[in-house]
Amino acid sequence: MAQHGKSVVVYEAQANIGGGARSAELTLPGFIHDLCSSVYPLAIGSPFFRSLPLSQHGLEWIQPAAAVAHPFDDGTVVTLERSVEATAAQLGPDEQSYRKLMVPLVAGWNGLDVDLLGPVRAPRHPWNLARFGLLGIQPARRLAEGRFQAERAKGFFAGIAAHSMLPLENWGSAAFGLVLAIAGHAVGWPIARGGAQKLTNALAAHLRSLGGEIIPNRPVRSLGELPASRVVLCDLTPRQVLEIAGEHFSPHYRESLRQYRYGMGAFKMDWALSGPVPWTAVECKRAATIHLGGTLEEIAFSERSAWRGEHVERPFVLLAQPSLFDPERASATKHTLWGYCHVPHGSTSNMAVKIENQIERFAPGFKDLVIGRSLMPPNELEKHNANLIGGDINGGAADLRQLFLRPTLKMYGTSVKGLYICSASTPPGGGVHGMCGYFAARKALKEMF
Ligand SMILES: Cc1cc2nc3c(=O)[nH]c(=O)nc-3n(C[C@H](O)[C@H](O)[C@H](O)COP(=O)(O)OP(=O)(O)OC[C@H]3O[C@@H](n4cnc5c(N)ncnc54)[C@H](O)[C@@H]3O)c2cc1C
Repeated sequence: MAQHGKSVVVYEAQANIGGGARSAELTLPGFIHDLCSSVYPLAIGSPFFRSLPLSQHGLEWIQPAAAVAHPFDDGTVVTLERSVEATAAQLGPDEQSYRKLMVPLVAGWNGLDVDLLGPVRAPRHPWNLARFGLLGIQPARRLAEGRFQAERAKGFFAGIAAHSMLPLENWGSAAFGLVLAIAGHAVGWPIARGGAQKLTNALAAHLRSLGGEIIPNRPVRSLGELPASRVVLCDLTPRQVLEIAGEHFSPHYRESLRQYRYGMGAFKMDWALSGPVPWTAVECKRAATIHLGGTLEEIAFSERSAWRGEHVERPFVLLAQPSLFDPERASATKHTLWGYCHVPHGSTSNMAVKIENQIERFAPGFKDLVIGRSLMPPNELEKHNANLIGGDINGGAADLRQLFLRPTLKMYGTSVKGLYICSASTPPGGGVHGMCGYFAARKALKEMF
């Protein structure tokens, strides 16, 4: 909006701006942790972010040697490399299948990114999108079992697909595994030097350079609190939109928002460590992101259980070890570690021991290195950011019904003229990529100016 010369004011409830992209000393002084997101395949791959001068405002991407490391109990590992060949070469009998699956998708990524990271519309690259769609619409389990013979490839793909926060038996869950694997090959899974906050600070500096204003510590409780303006864009999920604007909506639209469904939650942890994580598989040190769960069966069970409201003994754990690649996160020999597992929506169970047991399983001696830890169950996450309803980090379940058309058939629009939704509850959904806001702003510019 600001790039189009409109005057923009951002009201932020919290003292520090950034929502899902913020950093803070959560454990001990001198240890910089990312409160929510930490790893950015979708940000570096975002057509909108690519168009912004973020590096001029201090954003520097760090690309670890490998995007993801997926260790197994036998001490081996599969890594997601920039090269499809180098990744496939680790998959034994599934080398050819992986190559056959990925080569055309990665070749088509340039352009496909615009189609995938946006709402349903006439695709710019229909053939590429059709090829992707036929694969992505499948359950991740079915794709993995149909394409791969050995456990290494199946477990590796399951770990990436589990970012969907859906049971891997659900239709559409393969799309997440494919998008993130393609992104790993096409653009990498980078981290931001100095922490997630640097991405937010660069976006804020760009906005300010265009005359925009940001007012922190200003929770908006009703539309009436806002100054008169032609457009209001809500970076909120449907429940909050109903709270601040519900009385203005048509009964039908209000009911549609009420029916929006939230997904499972996250139990987030951060650690201050006296040394690097002592991985059994040393190749794990080449990646910022580590997926802990081993086999497809174990990961699928963990995700299915969380979806059904159950807690498992061995949760699938997503870790990031940014300080291995970024000296600004901790002093000299010390390290930071970031991680979470999926839990039932609104869960109040303490998963800390189970998460740490999973790390210890693949890195014996890890627990002895812990000098500080921070725990954020779903309710704590929600306290830090009201958008994380029940700990749902994606702004609502991304099952088939809500994958393309979210939060309602109107997507960014509402039943009130000039009022829009621009959060992860709109297409293309969760993740730090700015594309929800981009498409919401485009719609607002077209309709209101
Ligand atoms: C633990 C965790 C790990 C994640 N890891 C990754 C990752 O590694 N990579 C990735 O791409 N994504 C990741 N995500 C997801 C990503 O952070 C979100 O999908 C993304 O930030 C959603 O963007 P958004 O603009 O919809 O909302 P948010 O980024 O959540 O921003 C919403 C903002 O609105 C503010 N707000 C809420 N209510 C009000 C109100 N009434 N008045 C004023 N302000 C209000 C909030 O304080 C917040 O600043 C993670 C999320 C979490 C929680």
